[in-house]
Amino acid sequence: MQMAVDENLTKIIEKTVKKAKWKSLSVVEIGDPVLRQKCGKWEGQIAPETFEKLIRAMRSSMLSKPGVGLAAPQVGIPLSFAIMEDHVPGARRGGAEGELKEDGHMEKGGRRDEREFAELPFFVALNPSYTPISSKKAYFYEGCLSLPGYQAVVGRYLDIEARWEDEEGREKAEKLHGWPARIFQHETDHLSGTLYLDKCITRSFSSNGNCEKFWSSPSISRAKKELGFSPKMKSDEE
Ligand SMILES: [Zn+2]
Repeated sequence: MQMAVDENLTKIIEKTVKKAKWKSLSVVEIGDPVLRQKCGKWEGQIAPETFEKLIRAMRSSMLSKPGVGLAAPQVGIPLSFAIMEDHVPGARRGGAEGELKEDGHMEKGGRRDEREFAELPFFVALNPSYTPISSKKAYFYEGCLSLPGYQAVVGRYLDIEARWEDEEGREKAEKLHGWPARIFQHETDHLSGTLYLDKCITRSFSSNGNCEKFWSSPSISRAKKELGFSPKMKSDEE
């Protein structure tokens, strides 16, 4: 990886991280232009020591919300990198919601959870990109830390090839399926200035409270019927 440390940027981030030491980094909310620009390629602009501190601070912010991913523009940095981490809910809550199988998937009552959660261990994705392996999409509710309090149904490719560089500059490629594929698409989209709002079925838009109250089952079939949308609606282009 080409290293091109930007001393000014490094100083600003060093300060921000220091200030945030005892509390979380603030997450930029929708309406801020930094969320709408195409991020610059990551080329090592932040000095390694500072970058490490930034990633630690981003991770603790993400976990405290809680969230399963956080992209650099969400902390005000228009550079192409993101962090991701998700754990199967059953595992997270001591098996209360299901059983974590050896292959990392969750089963409930002998059936795979339809959202197809799978363990996504913490990682830093530099310059990530993805290509769908098939045109098959899955439709579920998702949210974003930059639009706190709301969720909407988004059609995401079920299978993708995810590519990124790790912190040592090694090129990585992995096939992702189900929920981890959704997370990777959501975070990577942030880096080109795209929010889930641009891809969601707008009629499904719901407050977190109402999502919990009415649409807590993973299936969107009731929401489809009662809110009046279908995945083929015009608002879900692509
Ligand atoms: Zn987001």
